[in-house]
Amino acid sequence: MKFFKPENIETLVQSIDAQSSKRYYLAGGTDINVQIKNGMIKNAEIIYINHIPELYGISESEDFIQIGATTTFFDIIKSDLIKKYLPFFQKSLEAFASPLLQASATIGGNIANGSPTADVLPLLLVTKAKLELKSNSGNRQIPIDMFFTGYKKNVMHTNELISSIIISKNAEKGYQNFYEKVGARKSLTIAKVALAGLKKESDEKIEEIILAVGSLNEYPRRLYKIEEYVTGKKLTEIDFKTVDELLQKEITPITDLRSDKEYRYHVCVNLIRSFLNL
Ligand SMILES: Cc1cc2nc3c(=O)[nH]c(=O)nc-3n(C[C@H](O)[C@H](O)[C@H](O)COP(=O)(O)OP(=O)(O)OC[C@H]3O[C@@H](n4cnc5c(N)ncnc54)[C@H](O)[C@@H]3O)c2cc1C
Repeated sequence: MKFFKPENIETLVQSIDAQSSKRYYLAGGTDINVQIKNGMIKNAEIIYINHIPELYGISESEDFIQIGATTTFFDIIKSDLIKKYLPFFQKSLEAFASPLLQASATIGGNIANGSPTADVLPLLLVTKAKLELKSNSGNRQIPIDMFFTGYKKNVMHTNELISSIIISKNAEKGYQNFYEKVGARKSLTIAKVALAGLKKESDEKIEEIILAVGSLNEYPRRLYKIEEYVTGKKLTEIDFKTVDELLQKEITPITDLRSDKEYRYHVCVNLIRSFLNL
């Protein structure tokens, strides 16, 4: 295993551009150190990124909040800026692991590690976040719902890294919100099922709804078919059998050591019912 600590952001992007071999970034280390210890990563190049100022911190522009990739969950949970514009996003992240883990684990690491159970992903999906990817040739932005292509697979090129996460200041404003992470315990638990949702209602009708699930597919995703079906309907017009059929098309729950697929499916159904008040 080779370890490399680039001096600055320029050296970092130049060095990843120059090599095509498999490399990993070490941010908080809470995923990668476990993977190295368990022998899942061998003979790789490990690049430290936590000391690079350009990748860290929370800032605002006129319309957006920008969160540097190496910003920790502790920083996000304590941020006044996030509290002002994205209080639902902030509050929901309190369910992440434990205070000790929150102090090391970074938002960029949670996304890039790409676990189906990653807590931040359903929240970034409902707030329609964009990821900024950086390479030696510049930056590009990609909507979070276009980032993953399969289990732990994404559209990042080998010479790129996530530099920041961009969320509209109005992403959750005026919406009723919902976030439930169901695990074995309240604290230090990995989600068996997670549902995040935002909705607007007027004249008793669902005017707009955004739903995203975690732990139910190879990567967290929006429930577009259900969103489309319930939009514009009054609660009395929603046939839950149809919602159920659409859900079966959108999720492929798995059985693993944490839970079985039937349990995951039924919990997800109940969470959707609960958010829709059905
Ligand atoms: C005890 C324990 C409890 C946990 N509980 C939870 C939990 O409740 N919820 C949850 O979602 N996760 C949980 N995790 C998983 C982990 O803490 C998170 O996924 C964390 O956010 C990873 O961030 P990190 O900075 O530690 O990433 P690292 O371990 O440093 O890196 C993880 C991966 O991401 C890549 N990477 C890191 N930063 C970037 C970047 N900027 N650009 C591109 N690639 C990058 C690395 O190459 C590596 O492959 C837990 C882990 C442990 C050990």
